[in-house]
Amino acid sequence: MARLAVETLMSALWDVGPSIIRTPVFDHYKKDKKTGKTISVTAKRLQALGRGDPTDIHNTGRALDIHLYARTAPQFGASYDFTECGYGFGLIGNFIDLSADMGWELIIYDQHVYHSDGTRTGQTKPSYKDEMARVNFEHLTHVHIQWADTPKADSASFNGALRALLIAGA
Ligand SMILES: [Zn+2]
Repeated sequence: MARLAVETLMSALWDVGPSIIRTPVFDHYKKDKKTGKTISVTAKRLQALGRGDPTDIHNTGRALDIHLYARTAPQFGASYDFTECGYGFGLIGNFIDLSADMGWELIIYDQHVYHSDGTRTGQTKPSYKDEMARVNFEHLTHVHIQWADTPKADSASFNGALRALLIAGA
């Protein structure tokens, strides 16, 4: 179960976020079991639950993935829209504007980590065996936002301000 901050963010994005949020996204994780090739299926853009073990920050309810392909995303064998990153960076700008109220710990997108103190650091994987491991590590397909295990993870105090920003930006 997602905790309150993640639930609040999901609801706000779904209700009044950019309309692209309510469209399906190509799911590059789904592979044909026999051929190992990526098959064209779609998934929801807002994903709170993770694919990892129970201790994964997604599965403890403190992280949300917002699937919007970044400009540096490689080809996955299906069409996608490079302009999606404009929405990704726009949302990150909103989250940074509201960082004191939202109380998120960090955001990762398109080869960068945004920290709650306002700094930004690089997140690249120069050496890798599997291209998807790099894509996932560098967050080329989605905005990851997470909360530390603090009272902020259980706060919805940013709901009104975030909705106002999303509506203004729509
Ligand atoms: Zn994530």
